[in-house]
Amino acid sequence: MAKKQFKAESKRLLEMMINSIYTHREIFLRELISNASDAIDKIYYKALTDENLTFDKDSYYIKVAADKEKRILTISDSGIGMTKEELENNLGTIAKSGSFAFKNENELKDGHDIIGQFGVGFYSAFMVADNVAVTTKALGSDEAYKWESNGADGYTIKSCEKASVGTEITLTIKENTEDENFDEYLEEYRLKAIIKKYSDFIRYPIKMDVTERKLKEGTDNEWEEVQEEQTINSMVPIWRKNKNELTDEDYENFYKEKHYGFDKPLKHLHIKVDGAVRYNAILYIPENMPFDYYTKEYEKGLELYSSGVLIMDKCADLLPDYFSFVKGMVDSEDLSLNISREMLQHDRQLKVIAKNIKKKIKNELQSLLKNEREKYEKFYHSFGRQLKYGVYSDFGANKEELQDLLLFYSSKEKKLVSLEEYVSRMPEDQKYIYYASGDTHERIEKLPQTELVADKGYEILYFTEDIDEFAIKMLMKYNEKEFKSVSSGDLGIEAEENEKDASEEKENKELFEEMKNILSGKVKDVRVSKRLKNHPVCLASDGEVSIEMEKILQAMPDNQNIKADKILEINVNHEVFHSLKTSFENDKEKLALYTNLLYNQALLIEGLPVNDPVEFTNDICKIMV
Ligand code: ADP
Ligand code: MG
Repeated sequence: MAKKQFKAESKRLLEMMINSIYTHREIFLRELISNASDAIDKIYYKALTDENLTFDKDSYYIKVAADKEKRILTISDSGIGMTKEELENNLGTIAKSGSFAFKNENELKDGHDIIGQFGVGFYSAFMVADNVAVTTKALGSDEAYKWESNGADGYTIKSCEKASVGTEITLTIKENTEDENFDEYLEEYRLKAIIKKYSDFIRYPIKMDVTERKLKEGTDNEWEEVQEEQTINSMVPIWRKNKNELTDEDYENFYKEKHYGFDKPLKHLHIKVDGAVRYNAILYIPENMPFDYYTKEYEKGLELYSSGVLIMDKCADLLPDYFSFVKGMVDSEDLSLNISREMLQHDRQLKVIAKNIKKKIKNELQSLLKNEREKYEKFYHSFGRQLKYGVYSDFGANKEELQDLLLFYSSKEKKLVSLEEYVSRMPEDQKYIYYASGDTHERIEKLPQTELVADKGYEILYFTEDIDEFAIKMLMKYNEKEFKSVSSGDLGIEAEENEKDASEEKENKELFEEMKNILSGKVKDVRVSKRLKNHPVCLASDGEVSIEMEKILQAMPDNQNIKADKILEINVNHEVFHSLKTSFENDKEKLALYTNLLYNQALLIEGLPVNDPVEFTNDICKIMV
């Protein structure tokens, strides 16, 4: 009998299946089992409307059997079966509608995108088999047919014998190659594991003959191996159960079974939504940061199920980047397994689900912060940075969403505080939310720039992570209050000696001008400091880039040499100032020496390197002799 050719698109996909070096070949079993489950579903729905048909749950099942010698794997079901026409239409054309459109040739070449994303149904059998035969008898028909193909060169359909309604798929498993092991698809333990992994929650029993070691009857030390039919899948997914049936331990076990993480989850969320889009989800907030979390190897995403069938391992679209630490799964009956035309539709429904999930995670974190502070701080320790990245990225699009989840160390409370807590404590005359940046809390504490603000009794937030200041610059305000670095030009604090400062500024205009010249472009200006109390000197920044930001930008691989506009501030109440004045009048060489020394000291206090360490130490020696 002449072989029939596959339709053009099917042929291309088939070739891709056969030739792809694809690491997830094992999904073929998921695809065939899900088809079998669909076929049983069809009888189930028919029975709902057809009086002559009853659905006796016990007689519906899927069976997987392997014959190692013959290299044959069969997947049979008692589902609705196919007529000759259906065989022709369903298995001769990919995805029925034939509208499967490849985005481009490259995608076709490696195929990863397509196979990885949504599975490709029946044809995936060719990833592991040289020959595929489908024997089937449709419900209400007396005739059975056999479809057979060994790949891209076409298929045949002929009449055959089959006792009961349903379908049996026979795969002749490929021989091992140098690089790939196909024998594993004939191994009992491997098949069991694949079924467990992908199809555990299929609603019908998936049966297999399993070898068990048992005590021989009548003996107490003689063992024998017996074959026993077992149901491999558990059939009831944990996410379909009621929350009150489940304990924390159940959720924890699920977390481990799924390998979501090696730690214990900090918190779980069990979501059931029955709205425009229906879905169930179990989400986890892990306690510890995965070791690769802040690397580009880390992949965010949730497992995606469609009616209990796993269709995607890591669906990235379900999570925004700033919640990329969340683990778990989503199951929706509104998503179909079909990869083809529903692709776009999926997207729309997925978006609704993703939006919903985002809201739930945020609420959960907020309530954790409110009610279980210690836990929240633990969480924040691991993932706070990611939230700050979230505030900063996408040009601040999500800043409002995230601002209440941020915590910073407080100079007054000596612990992490939220912005809300900070603002609620602000004295009436305090205009800004103050912060100071530095490597550690201890170093920030000693920064001369913090003196005035701290003296005023205002609280200061300590920024020790490189992202902090960038995130806050993006946020700009919280609750109408602007953020202000203690090093910025105008602190918004009315200094008592304002007039005195102004006159000092005028009086010493020439001195400051001279000092600025000595520093030849290293600072934008030399000024009277309003913030210094005990220290003689400090650096302040004027403009968008702070000194702390300069440090971070300079350390980046694509360093574009962005620098802060630095102001050298002089404490006119400090004794050193008199020396400056005297030397300005009598000894210009000394003024240059002092100016350079002060500037270098200011750099050191900021944690910046001095320009020329040798010159600096020479300068110190000069004043010693
Ligand atoms: P999809 O399941 O997304 O429709 P598949 O390639 O997996 O795509 O299957 C193609 C079609 O073949 C199915 O829609 C179904 O009509 C038919 N089919 C496949 N396997 C079976 C089966 N075990 N019993 C009945 N029909 C089946
Ligand atoms: Mg299918």
